[in-house]
Amino acid sequence: MYFKKGKVIIISAPSGSGKTTIARYLLKQKFNLKFSISACTREKRKNEIHGVDYFFLKTDDFKRNIKENNFLEWEEVYLNSFYGTLKKDVEYNLKLGYNILFDIDVKGAMSLKKHFGKDSCSIYIDAPINIIEQRLSERNTETNKDLILRLEKIKQESLSKINFDVIIENLDLHEAKEKAKKCVENFLKK
Ligand code: 5GP
Repeated sequence: MYFKKGKVIIISAPSGSGKTTIARYLLKQKFNLKFSISACTREKRKNEIHGVDYFFLKTDDFKRNIKENNFLEWEEVYLNSFYGTLKKDVEYNLKLGYNILFDIDVKGAMSLKKHFGKDSCSIYIDAPINIIEQRLSERNTETNKDLILRLEKIKQESLSKINFDVIIENLDLHEAKEKAKKCVENFLKK
């Protein structure tokens, strides 16, 4: 539908906020939207696929890409866990006219917002901390230590949500999905 030069949707949210479900929902719409596959150095989870969810890189390889200036942005999101957006695919897909959906942390989101300016819309998906805590422990993908680190990070990141173009409170997943859809639709139409 929208075949001009591509635009950028940046989503940030605490893990456990329903972000992945909302992102998948947006990708299913006729928004000509492609997911930006990040590189990262953390261990692959059982259900994840290299080149689909992330490009899982060894830390040395990740650092070589930093040196070669191959990242649009990168962050050490957790201690010794690096995540970054590789320039190549993003630039290529934008030129082809695709819109791109990024799922990245708050600092990365701010870097991308600065880079893409008015061609980007940044969305923060929020949820009450007790619900997040419950979802994260039910998901059972992190060790207890990692869970504590993640919750700490969520509290810190939440302080920066005011810098986003849009904040969506996910109290009801269906409503949150619809709000995100409307927001992206309006932005792409502009
Ligand atoms: P997870 O390990 O749960 O997949 O992701 C951890 C955090 O890293 C999430 O907040 C996710 O949005 C963020 N993240 C994923 N890819 C990138 C990226 O390319 N750059 C940055 N800065 N953060 C990312």
